[in-house]
Amino acid sequence: MNKAESERLGSLFEQIGHQPTAFAEEADLIILNSCVIRQSAENKVVSKIGALKSLKKSRPTLKIALTGCFVDPDIDKLKKRFPDVDYFFKAGDWPQFIEKVKEASVLPEKPAPSTFIPIIQGCNNFCSYCIVPYRRGREKSRTLDEIVREAKTLADRGTREIILVGQNVDSYGHDLPEKPDLAQLLVELNKIEELARIRFLTNHPKDMSDRLINAIASLDKVCEEINLPMQAGDDDILKAMRRGYTAEHYRKLVNRIRNKVPEIAISTDVIVGFPGETDKQFQATVDLLAELRFDNVHIAAYSPRAGTIASREYEDDIPPEVKKERVNIIEKLQKKIATDINAMLLYQTMQVLVEGKKKGKWHGRSRSGKLVFFNNKNEILGQVVKVRIEKTSPWALQGVLYTGNGS
Ligand code: SAH
Ligand code: SF4
Repeated sequence: MNKAESERLGSLFEQIGHQPTAFAEEADLIILNSCVIRQSAENKVVSKIGALKSLKKSRPTLKIALTGCFVDPDIDKLKKRFPDVDYFFKAGDWPQFIEKVKEASVLPEKPAPSTFIPIIQGCNNFCSYCIVPYRRGREKSRTLDEIVREAKTLADRGTREIILVGQNVDSYGHDLPEKPDLAQLLVELNKIEELARIRFLTNHPKDMSDRLINAIASLDKVCEEINLPMQAGDDDILKAMRRGYTAEHYRKLVNRIRNKVPEIAISTDVIVGFPGETDKQFQATVDLLAELRFDNVHIAAYSPRAGTIASREYEDDIPPEVKKERVNIIEKLQKKIATDINAMLLYQTMQVLVEGKKKGKWHGRSRSGKLVFFNNKNEILGQVVKVRIEKTSPWALQGVLYTGNGS
């Protein structure tokens, strides 16, 4: 979500005549888009502001703006704490920040082959550990027409893939008068001819519908990739997290998705070291990960966030070294699983949308979201090409351009 918003914010500034620069030393304006999902993210913002202080001393004309979830309602207190920051604006309040630019015209100047489109802001779920609903407010969907219009314009300008983003894309539309849902939005977007691919994240296991699973199975542009955070494998922990589902519900859902869309790649999020998590409860998470075998797992150690239900009701009683050990156990397991899953792709030919070049090699993603590297002399940015996989690892694939005649 932050990445999506930074892109849009950058393009808004381009529209009013600014240009991006890779060096902070050259900038007239630096906007920090902050995240506070865990303490480590929050620490990063604070140290970044500290680092910019000396830059500002040497260049007094430099303006610094702070946005994102670090900006809480008490802006006066923030102003006192960070006198070097010139502007504070809440996550999502940036259209007001650049008054001249109306939200309807928010479109990147030079669209990348793959572009994010936020479809729903905020979250109504209040999982006990999570700060998002406090900082980003309640769910607010953009209208179906507005999203389709934006996607069409992007496609006209060269975007081949759109990634719809929201904290919980499964609740898209419930707050709109016509009550559209994500499946319906996908049907409309799938009609846009110039578009090659559609992805979306993040799904919520308690809300993901069969209508959506059917849409993934039947719509040709909707990619076979899904992000479905599990968070834990033990029912008592899931309950204390207020996730609204059981491990059995989650297992059945994954199996239902795989039955309908066999080639789907599924990634998940887990939190280890939630307050009170016993060895046995942690083992339940490990067991479920080992059973369901995901393509990718984002692992986080529990970090208490002030104001959340969990930080009020439970003591953060799992020692840091135990959390670390639990993270390591899952990392090791997942490395093995991803190694095996990716090894099955050896010598397969995959469709890759070329997104850029790094160290002389083109890179892009398969429909299932796998990162693929390959060599080619031609300018093929933004094209969908076929690549034959010749080498696999848990993190990425290497291949050669497939020309279809056996060469
Ligand atoms: N809406 C998504 C993800 C939101 S935050 C969902 O429902 O899962 C992204 C990830 O950060 C979460 O999946 C979770 O694994 C992690 N996270 C959120 N709050 C956290 C906390 N307090 N401590 C550690 N990890 C956290
Ligand atoms: Fe946070 Fe839960 Fe909302 Fe995800 S669904 S953003 S974890 S409150």
